[in-house]
Amino acid sequence: MKKLYKGKTCVVCEEEKEDGMYVYTAFICWECEREIVQTEPGTEKYEQLVKKLGKIRKPSVFS
Ligand SMILES: [Zn+2]
Repeated sequence: MKKLYKGKTCVVCEEEKEDGMYVYTAFICWECEREIVQTEPGTEKYEQLVKKLGKIRKPSVFS
């Protein structure tokens, strides 16, 4: 039986995926999560990923 709900939108690749993780309120798919882990800090790719992740805000209740 197919799941009725649609996938959530990943903040990094902006594609709808069914599986992934939440960082605060943002959804990141497993593929992007793995990419972030494997990307070396200081590289152009890493900078781009960090920029995308900059959209993620901690819940205001903690600020
Ligand atoms: Zn993604």
